[in-house]
Amino acid sequence: MTEEKVNVLIIGSGPAGYTAAIYAARAGLKPVMYQGGQPGGQLTITNDVENYPGYPDGINGPQMMVDFQKQAERFGTDVRFGLATKVDFSGYPHKVIIDDKHEITANAVIISTGASAKWLGLESEQRLNGMGVSACAVCDGFFYKGQDVVVVGAGDTAAEEATYLSNICNKVTMIVRRDEMRASKIMQRRVEKAKNIEILWNTETEEVLGKDEVEGVRVVNNVTGEKTEIKATGFFVAIGHKPNTEIFKDFLELNDAGYIITKPGSTKTKVEGVFASGDAQDFIYRQAVTAAGTGCMAALDAERFLAEKEDELEEQEEVAEKA
Ligand code: NDP
Repeated sequence: MTEEKVNVLIIGSGPAGYTAAIYAARAGLKPVMYQGGQPGGQLTITNDVENYPGYPDGINGPQMMVDFQKQAERFGTDVRFGLATKVDFSGYPHKVIIDDKHEITANAVIISTGASAKWLGLESEQRLNGMGVSACAVCDGFFYKGQDVVVVGAGDTAAEEATYLSNICNKVTMIVRRDEMRASKIMQRRVEKAKNIEILWNTETEEVLGKDEVEGVRVVNNVTGEKTEIKATGFFVAIGHKPNTEIFKDFLELNDAGYIITKPGSTKTKVEGVFASGDAQDFIYRQAVTAAGTGCMAALDAERFLAEKEDELEEQEEVAEKA
């Protein structure tokens, strides 16, 4: 195991991580970033991003993340390829192991490991990803304006996505695998109120249809066995997200779904000097711009924390000198 000491360590390289890096680097905190298994994060599997302010003509997701990285590096962030595989936040400074072979000791850690959308696991779903298959209605819904789309899932996310799409699209068909929805009552009521949402109960997806782009979906009723084909140009999978927080579970407070709990109005976790930003702690907004916002907050929180630590050390030294 090789060893290294750094000041601020940023884990993960989505909008939250890079924004934290830009702020931390400009504040002279010498951040080191490990990009994780999917450098650039979820935006690298999106096509056009049209809702990030500052890009009036939209921008391609992977390009946007290249720009984020360039901006972070311009101010001196040390961006490295590697995956945090283990942490030890039981003492101070904090320890993070990279790729099971490199031990980093850091004065402050910013977690921005993001979340990954869950998929059904169908070959056709994977093949048509980005060509009509999406896991984000707010990101991609606009491309299906006036068209017919399908939403799979029955939780709050699915209900929210279906309601959002119902304001843009001609018709939304929701595919629900049981005879009831898991979503909260209020979200279900919104779905019921929308005139252009049809719910297919006890229904599962067999195949997303289409060669180069989505043309429809073949579904099966799991009670009657009846198969139906639905015409649609968009197929939105909303069966939940999995935050990438597994390695932190023994040290930080996580909610039931695995998201890191931060102190209200800040990015502070239960452990001093460890900050969480982006989708690893946000199960409500999950947007690039909100992730970037919390990345900025994390860098500012880290900066204040380190300044206070420095003051503490100076005070201790003064007391020791006097004694
Ligand atoms: P959930 O885990 O709550 O729901 C997932 C849904 O997808 C369930 O209805 C589940 O069905 C269904 N599902 C899972 N796997 C499959 C599959 N293979 N095929 C078909 N359907 C499947 O995830 P959400 O993302 O909806 O919500 C996560 C958390 O975030 C929740 O706590 C939620 O309340 C919260 N949230 C809050 C929001 C808000 O406050 N505005 C917005 C969005 C989310 P089944 O019910 O049969 O298990």
